[in-house]
Amino acid sequence: MKKLEQLYEGKAKKVFKTDNADHYLIEYKDDATAFNGEKRGSIEDKGVVNNLMSAKMFQLLENEGVESHLVELLNDREMLVKAVEIIQVEVIVRNVATGSMVRRLGIEDGITLEPTVLEYCLKSDAFGDPIINDYHIAAMKLATEDEMKQIRDMAFKINEFMKETFIKLDLKLIDFKLEFGRFKGKIILADEISPDTCRFWEVGTNRKMDKDRFRQDLGNVKATYQEVLKKVQTL
Ligand code: 5GP
Repeated sequence: MKKLEQLYEGKAKKVFKTDNADHYLIEYKDDATAFNGEKRGSIEDKGVVNNLMSAKMFQLLENEGVESHLVELLNDREMLVKAVEIIQVEVIVRNVATGSMVRRLGIEDGITLEPTVLEYCLKSDAFGDPIINDYHIAAMKLATEDEMKQIRDMAFKINEFMKETFIKLDLKLIDFKLEFGRFKGKIILADEISPDTCRFWEVGTNRKMDKDRFRQDLGNVKATYQEVLKKVQTL
């Protein structure tokens, strides 16, 4: 496999072409941003944690029948993935109210959401990832109704699996963001699953074990990312 020219550079990852048209190479960076790029910084070895943790989560989900873009973990910072066309919708699953939901709706922080809440955001840095619904998705031709049904079913299945998995590690899965892509006529899970894209609260103490430590300047950011990876590696 040959790493060819860079296709795209995002806030946390670079994507490269490879000599196989069906595969891209993703390189995870240490750069960290929050609040739509207003806060910038870096978390040492975050790229390693997010790459290794995402690969592990994708492998576990594959065993549960959830297809992902992972082809192969290459090294600490790189993975080979299927060359998906990313659907421009961020899918957010919320088990507990916090973050932007609390700011937007005034709901009490930390309250359990029954039923679990699914939200969609337009993937757009320029517009600050605004919240959208099924009608916007249809009218903007971001995805078909059938694709959105598959995405919804996968998101809830992933949530059930991840909730059960993380509770065994003494981590409560508060919320997370997923992205999906089209590959050879199928909808598959893409992007990453990491402390950048999920919120975890430690069971018993409610200690924040995710990117909120960076967003809210809570300290011990690097050590907390490493701690989450260490737990995930026991799975
Ligand atoms: P909130 O909308 O409360 O800021 O985020 C909800 C959940 O989705 C959190 O777990 C958060 O990490 C994740 N999330 C939402 N939008 C983004 C995004 O643009 N980038 C990343 N990395 N995570 C996001």
